[in-house]
Amino acid sequence: MPDFCAAFGCSKERNARTKQLGVTFHRFPKDKVKRKAWTAALKRRDFEPNDYSVVCSCHFKSEDFDRTGQTTRLKEGVIPSVFTFPDHLCKVSVVGNCFCINNDNLSCLNQS
Ligand SMILES: [Zn+2]
Repeated sequence: MPDFCAAFGCSKERNARTKQLGVTFHRFPKDKVKRKAWTAALKRRDFEPNDYSVVCSCHFKSEDFDRTGQTTRLKEGVIPSVFTFPDHLCKVSVVGNCFCINNDNLSCLNQS
């Protein structure tokens, strides 16, 4: 089953392309209170995350990540807080059906 980012207007998918771009995907916390906080942060109406819902790394601040291990993890207790895609994370613009991420090398994720 493909993983899509649950953030409004994002819909990045976990695939080889996003992996290459360094986008990581993070499951909603199992803890009810934390999960509620994430859901509230997404501000999506009628959205109810399940155990497989994920949010991509674009919605977290760089200091929210623990990169000391083999896999990029989120630090304890962080909630997604970045929904305007500032330049230092990744700038996303929508051209037609295409989300373009501007980082060091311009890449295009075809969302069709
Ligand atoms: Zn996302």
